[in-house]
Amino acid sequence: MSDKYDVIVIGAGPGGYVAAIKAAQLGLKTACIESWTDKEGKHRLGGTCLNVGCIPSKALLEISHKYEEAHHGFADQGIIAKDVKMDIGKMMERKEGIVNQLTGGIGGLFKANGVTSIQGHGKLLANRKVEVTDKDGKATTYEADNVIIATGSKPIQIPPAPFDGEHIVDSEGALEFTEVPKRLGVIGAGIIGLELGSVWARLGAEVTVLEAVDTFLPTIDQQIAKDALKQFQKQGLNIVLGARMTGAEVKRKLVNVSYEDSNGKQEAKFDKLIVAVGRRPYTDNLLSEDSGVQMDERGFIFVDDNCKTEAPGVWAVGDVVRGPMLAHKASEEGVMVAERIAGHKPQVNYDCIPNVVYTFPEVAWVGKTEEQLKAEGEEYNVGTFPFAANGRAMAANSATGMVKIIADAKTDRILGFHVVGPQASEIVAQGVIAMEFGSSAEDLALTCFAHPTLSESVHEAALGVAGGAIHIANRKKKK
Ligand code: FAD
Ligand code: AMP
Repeated sequence: MSDKYDVIVIGAGPGGYVAAIKAAQLGLKTACIESWTDKEGKHRLGGTCLNVGCIPSKALLEISHKYEEAHHGFADQGIIAKDVKMDIGKMMERKEGIVNQLTGGIGGLFKANGVTSIQGHGKLLANRKVEVTDKDGKATTYEADNVIIATGSKPIQIPPAPFDGEHIVDSEGALEFTEVPKRLGVIGAGIIGLELGSVWARLGAEVTVLEAVDTFLPTIDQQIAKDALKQFQKQGLNIVLGARMTGAEVKRKLVNVSYEDSNGKQEAKFDKLIVAVGRRPYTDNLLSEDSGVQMDERGFIFVDDNCKTEAPGVWAVGDVVRGPMLAHKASEEGVMVAERIAGHKPQVNYDCIPNVVYTFPEVAWVGKTEEQLKAEGEEYNVGTFPFAANGRAMAANSATGMVKIIADAKTDRILGFHVVGPQASEIVAQGVIAMEFGSSAEDLALTCFAHPTLSESVHEAALGVAGGAIHIANRKKKK
């Protein structure tokens, strides 16, 4: 038996590493176990998000957007950029550089806060003992008063399209193509499929996205989803809804995909196929039979509202538990659990977690959609404002999309805040703050916004909730 800790965290993604740092800051003796190693066998912190998720995908989205703009958007603005070319190797080098800097930075934060970093695969035994097997197969057992499981998720592999790492890949493979595929197929029009499809479409691939469901982004506000779909199609993304992939076979370096849509059986050929049909909670070889931790019917670790499992002193956060699979949701839960272990009583406000699709235009939202409110029988007012009427968006050559604010008809409290348009990921923070503070639409309408800014669309949408928008004709007249 080795050292005893107040807190042992299993997994160093945004759920685990944030929980570990917070716990150490609160004076708890903390260790964080992580099994990830890079191609050279070096220990890597940061989890999916920093290594193969949020960060590398955003690096490629930023670079490909700049290329696309230089290629197609500059001429309209009088900028002559001849012979713009893409160096994919350099782009990947830059992406790797950012990932290395950030993952290395977590090691620095662990040192600065006094978190012990342990390399190896952690397995939870009974009574909060954790067995760690290092890369040479040596096992050491540690003990803690509290264990936080933050083991994240992995891409779902479906039998009709097994990953081969070369032609049929998951999201991780799609971040590592060495050249732009001529024809790229994407299975699944979820957030990851749309973001990765956008990267390669901007760089010149002919992209077809096959989506089994016949509604585009069915869980988001449908006025916003329809606007986004129109923009994506205009950019040349071929999004086929109601198309269920049934098979994928590699023949002579081409992926032959079969799928079914309303017209029956169809076939398509691609140079590469990205399968982005969702992620599953990752609990492989994590729990001994007597650990006391239970899973739900979908394989997520079962927790209550405060991320407590069924086993005393064992908590779980992030992608491995219910709720949206988002880095900031994982981190919020990590902080809450560390605070609870230290005797405080914070709670995550699950109603105020923002969601973003980092396409162009970006799509971002927090709170309820019109469809949800209708289904719940709530009465509400809506204010929308298009970026086409926003001077700053016009100046930036990105006057597409809108801000939409939904407020309770009786109390005027903001219930939903939706954006499709430039910098939606930044603009949505205004909705999150407003909703966290229980703000009414009128509170936003009475606030002074700098001119000219994209955020003035928030102001106008808020004014529009009561029919008082200034820079667009109001559908409803102010009483
Ligand atoms: P993870 O980040 O998956 O970390 C879990 C860690 O636990 C891993 O490092 C793993 O090696 C380790 N581990 C697992 N089992 C063990 C074990 N038994 N012992 C030791 N270590 C173990 N989210 C956003 O919010 N914004 C985005 O823009 C975004 N973009 C994404 C893009 C892509 C392509 C992908 C794939 C995901 C994206 N996500 C995004 C989702 C985000 O990455 C996850 O929600 C987030 O990483 C979850 O954090 P986590 O800490 O729960 O798990
Ligand atoms: P998400 O879980 O949000 O990442 O989205 C994954 C998407 O993949 C969902 O919209 C699913 O409907 C879609 N999907 C799952 N299986 C298939 C399939 N066999 N063919 C096409 N789309 C699929």
